[in-house]
Order: sequence, then C-alpha cells, then structure tokens
Amino acid sequence: MILHIDMDAFFAAVEQRDNPALKNKPIIVAGNSERSVVSTASYEARKFGIRSAMPVFLAKRKCADLIIVPGNMKKYKSDSKRIMDILSQFSPLVEPVSIDEAYVDISGCERLFGSSEAMARAIKKKIMTELSLTSSIGIAPIKFLSKIASDMNKPDGLTIITKSDAPHFLAALPVKKVPGVGSAAMKQMDTMNIQYLGDIKKFSLQILTQKFGKMGSHLLELSNGIDMSKVETDYTRKSISSETTLPKDMSDFETIKGIILDRSQKVGKELRENHFLCETIFIKLKFSDFSQVTRSRTLNTPVCSSAAIFNEALALYRKFELKKKIRLVGVGVTSLKDKNTPIQMQLIKDERLPEKQWESVDRAVDSIIEKFGNDIIKKATLNEPYD
Ligand SMILES: [Mg+2]
Repeated sequence: MILHIDMDAFFAAVEQRDNPALKNKPIIVAGNSERSVVSTASYEARKFGIRSAMPVFLAKRKCADLIIVPGNMKKYKSDSKRIMDILSQFSPLVEPVSIDEAYVDISGCERLFGSSEAMARAIKKKIMTELSLTSSIGIAPIKFLSKIASDMNKPDGLTIITKSDAPHFLAALPVKKVPGVGSAAMKQMDTMNIQYLGDIKKFSLQILTQKFGKMGSHLLELSNGIDMSKVETDYTRKSISSETTLPKDMSDFETIKGIILDRSQKVGKELRENHFLCETIFIKLKFSDFSQVTRSRTLNTPVCSSAAIFNEALALYRKFELKKKIRLVGVGVTSLKDKNTPIQMQLIKDERLPEKQWESVDRAVDSIIEKFGNDIIKKATLNEPYD
C-alpha cells in the first residue's frame, strides 16, 4: 500500500499559524512585484475563487479584504524537513515530491499500527501536535491513485482506496484526473467518447498507441490497475544540482570558476546533509543564444566533498571550447549512494584518505554556514586548485 500526504494550503497555513491576526482570514502568500502570482491561497481566500498561480492583481479584484503575506521560504523549508522526518519515523521508504508532499511506501508497516488507517491517523496527529498544521492523506494499492485519494477530502482529509475498491474506482475515474493527460489528449478522447478510465478498455492497445503514443499503453495499464511506479526514496533519488543565471552573459574564466566553486559547495553540502556519496559529476552551461550543453564524468570512487565535486566540474569546464558567452552555470551530481552502505565503505576504505580530509573541512564549513549564513565563508583558494 502507498500513502500520499499533501499539506493543506501549506505556506498560507504556516503564516496563519505563526500570526494569529491572519487566522480565518482570506490571505495569499505572494511576492509584491507587479508580475507576482499567488503562491498559496488560504482556504478562506479560495472561497473567493482565488487559486495558486493566479496573478495577484486578479486575486485582489476577487476579494477586497485579501491580505497579502510575503513568503518565508526558510521557514517553510525547515517545517518541511520536520514533516519529512516525522514520515520517516513511520516508514524508511519516503519519497518527497515537493516541499509539502510525499509518497510513503507503507507495505508491512501497517501491522505495527493495526491498520493503514490507524497509521495515517497517527501521522496526521503527530504533524498536528508538533507543527500545528493539517494535512490530507490518501492511501491506495497503487501510487497514482494514492495522490488522487489525498486530494479527495481536503482539507484535513483521509481517504483510503482498498485493493477491492480499486477496480471500481479506476473505472469511474475521469480521465482528465490522470496525471499526464493534457488538453490535447483530452480533445482526442472526446472524439473517441472516452470520459472515464474504464472507457479506455473499449479500445485495443494498437489503437491507443496509435492515438496517444506511449501514454496510450500506460493508460490501458492504469485502467487495469497496473502501475509499476514505486516509491523512490532519497536513496534512489536521481540527482542533486544547483545552477545560477549570471547577472549578464560572460566568458571570464575566473568569474565562471568562482561560480562553479560556489555551486559545487552548495551541491556538496546537500549531498552531505543527506548522507550520500556520488559517483557522477556534471556541469551544465547555457549560452547567450539559449543553447545548452551538459558534460559529465563518472569516478571510480564515490565522493561527497565539495573539493572533489569542484575539481571534476572545473576539469569538465576546461574541456569546453568556448565560442559563445555563458548565460547560466550549473553543477550537479548523480549516481547517488547511501553513505552507510557497508559494501561501499569497504570498497573505498583505502582510496579515500585525501577525500576524507576534505570531507571534515567541508563538515566544519557546513556547520558554520548553517549558523551564520551563506556569505560568511568564501574559500580563500579561489585562484588555486584544491589539491
Ligand atoms: Mg499542498
């Protein structure tokens, strides 16, 4: 069974929790520039038809008493981390999908709590007790259904689709609710009289593939209750990366090098925070004409120090023959390994000595940045190689 949890009006709920003057009021979290859009609307604001991604000026027009609150990403991130930590107390298989949303594979865990419903209630209660926030949970035997279920009784919802309910539920599910079905596909479906997922079964695999490509066969599988997607945990998460758009297009080597260093430190920090090692390092460059390239290198030994990431990223950068000015620089890592996997530790025992030393330097830097912010430490070695 898979559980999907989605916090209710997350940013707005956090603001209402922290400022009693905002309680039960129509509020939106949004920036205050001319072009800002609604990031999150409180349920009170939603009553006026205000939704995420709506331009702020339009939202104001819909509700005269609307209160606009500037966002506080740092606060949301730290609350998000606490929520994910709570989830991982219930199951080791947690896949965060966004700041306020995650899948949890609860197969087998229900036994500890008596039932999956009891487990979901315990999760909701714990989040309420520790963070004073409501959440909505959906549980289903397949992944995409759990997400649909969590959306069904918001806010503070709990919806369970059992194995025996699933076939009936799938048959009656409007196809437009299936993730990935866009308006173009919907038009085609209309001409074929497909309204519910159950209608898909009236067509052969051949016709569905012809009309919808890969999605056709996927839809047929879903209509038969087959969804092979699994909960992807941190451990299997694909990559960590960080990129920055330059204030203006440029090609100055030292400046770009500084940016690569900066991004490498950021990626390294996240890697270490999550107790990962990486095997592959990549850089991404976008040029003044918006074309882009990615280059990667896979190492023999997994690493997690910023120094190792920087050295590889810089080496990849040096290999480019720059013909155009650069607009964006990104550094990333992939092929992540859990740091505590014993085999890997054994594998790298002897080779990692210099890497190990850098790692302890990095950890010290990480904790100082944690305390005093990002600008406090800048490597003095910007003009020298790390080794
Ligand atoms: Mg949400």
